Amino acid sequence: MKRRAAKLGLMVQEERLVELFKELCFINAPPLGERDSVAFVKDLLAKAGLEVYEDEAGGKIGGNGNNLIAWLRGSLQQAPKVFLSAHFDTVEPTAGLQMEERDGVFASASDTILGADDKGGMAPAIEAVLALKESGLPHGDVCLLLSVAEEIGLKGAGALEVQDLGLDFGYVLDTGPPVGSFVTRTATHDNLIVTIHGKAAHAGKDPEKGINAIEVAADAISGMKLGRLGPEATANIGIIEGGTGVNVVCPTVKIRAEARNTSVPELDAQIAHMVNRFEEAARKRGARAEILHERHYSAYHVADDAPVVKLAQEASRTLGFEPTLRTTLGGSDANVYNAKGLPSIVLATAMEHIHTHDECISRQGLIDTARLALEILVRASKMTR
Ligand SMILES: [Zn+2]
Repeated sequence: MKRRAAKLGLMVQEERLVELFKELCFINAPPLGERDSVAFVKDLLAKAGLEVYEDEAGGKIGGNGNNLIAWLRGSLQQAPKVFLSAHFDTVEPTAGLQMEERDGVFASASDTILGADDKGGMAPAIEAVLALKESGLPHGDVCLLLSVAEEIGLKGAGALEVQDLGLDFGYVLDTGPPVGSFVTRTATHDNLIVTIHGKAAHAGKDPEKGINAIEVAADAISGMKLGRLGPEATANIGIIEGGTGVNVVCPTVKIRAEARNTSVPELDAQIAHMVNRFEEAARKRGARAEILHERHYSAYHVADDAPVVKLAQEASRTLGFEPTLRTTLGGSDANVYNAKGLPSIVLATAMEHIHTHDECISRQGLIDTARLALEILVRASKMTR
């Protein structure tokens, strides 16, 4: 007989979880504008008896909200110090959100996105910690790391001084289903900002006196390897802007591009190829290519037998889920935490169609995510650091 997941493991308070998810969605929290959401959660966690404080990330990154760190202190000093993490900001503002629930699935009924990314991770993370506290079971120190400005380059996590917290490992609740699976391997992601400097001239009178930056860009891009480059490699030109008038030979064009790859040497080669295309096209026409290259985030690959992975898989299996380990080319705060030496993997949530207006999440998915997070925390309390 197939085990029914809902009958196994410890219980979370389902209605409280769903209400918290909704309340979080209704607080507008665009990147760098998370203050109200941070204040709401800080108050909630303080009232629940957690040790909660903000860092000073907002000031450092130009936002009005800080990262929130909350500790549920435990009596088991030998148990590993485990964290659950989610981010406050949504990819777009959600002011004026109207929510609908249809057949147990929440979606936006207004012009805004729902914001299930990442409220669909944050609400279950908080509920798991509250449920652990109420269970009366002995446990070690458990930490909630709730970050700001994730969607604009993992900036909150970048400013968060996780190395000072004495944590052993943890989970970032921030990717799509199936619940019970985990991301243990990701790509490295680079950005290019390219400015082509040509020369303006009257398009009707003296076109030969100008150098058209749009033509240079077109030449460079037309010969570029882009799109899907391999099973774990992509490259994209995302934004191109420039020009001052239809009757002006275009003097300047700005291009934003990216490339991702699980292999850093392959990524470096792709970036060199793209840079070379721009420089070569500019040189041919007497223009100049100004190129800014930045490593947006670095890949991580947490070993299958690492405690952070094994614990998660055992918890997932216990609840009747499929504990698959996934590779993704997308980034999350886990990339930053791993780069700072804190073993972290991404725990899948139920959020679907994220970063689009079709974004949705199921009631059952929220509950399953919270139960899995709780099971992980309970199992961690039986481990030794
Ligand atoms: Zn997210």
